[in-house]
Amino acid sequence: MRVRKRKGAEEHLENNPHYVILNPEEAKGRWHDIFGNDNPIHIEVGSGKGAFITGMALKNLNINYIGIDIQVSVLSYALDKVLESQAPNIRLLLVDGSALTNYFTDGEVDLLYLNFSDPWPKKKHEKRRLTYKSFLDTYKKILPEHGEIHFKTDNRGLFEYSLVSFSQYGMALKQVWLDLHASDFEGNVMTEYEEKFSNKGQVIYRVEATF
Ligand code: SAH
Repeated sequence: MRVRKRKGAEEHLENNPHYVILNPEEAKGRWHDIFGNDNPIHIEVGSGKGAFITGMALKNLNINYIGIDIQVSVLSYALDKVLESQAPNIRLLLVDGSALTNYFTDGEVDLLYLNFSDPWPKKKHEKRRLTYKSFLDTYKKILPEHGEIHFKTDNRGLFEYSLVSFSQYGMALKQVWLDLHASDFEGNVMTEYEEKFSNKGQVIYRVEATF
């Protein structure tokens, strides 16, 4: 997601420490204290402007959600949505998905979402794809045994790559959708990109994979 640098974005994040976890290393192993309950924790890596994570949080008040992105401006827009929603069960993190073991202890995350991750189509950029094996190593550590990744994209190449990457890693594909919006999947919460690309007539792919 490309956005223009937003003036005051950093201050915006800093001024909202309830929602934006500013010292994420200190949160490791303490996430249930931060949320103040023992509910499951679901995270989205690359949460963009936050439509999905906020929509999910409002629908599922008994689940805690954490939106994670590496771009300050992008996360600041997600913060706008979170503030507007007033959802008690959501937090935001400005960190890199490749370093999640610095912020979550083993098994601390119950479910991981990837939505419309950057495709990085060139082979030489394979290692940057959020479904590359080194990312799977990281996700595996913070998820429980047989933990799940739920991934949506409009990008056929990244989808094909990811199915193979999951399989080669030894993960099981629980379910695959080749046209999510034409399926009987219930309760889909759209992301910004999903809205945009499906309006253009693109099909949306989805997979649930388990370690
Ligand atoms: N999920 C949103 C945004 C998709 S764009 C949607 O579906 O609309 C992909 C997002 O992933 C961008 O906001 C980008 O900043 C973020 N991103 C890319 N690499 C990342 C990484 N290594 N760690 C965390 N976020 C990342």
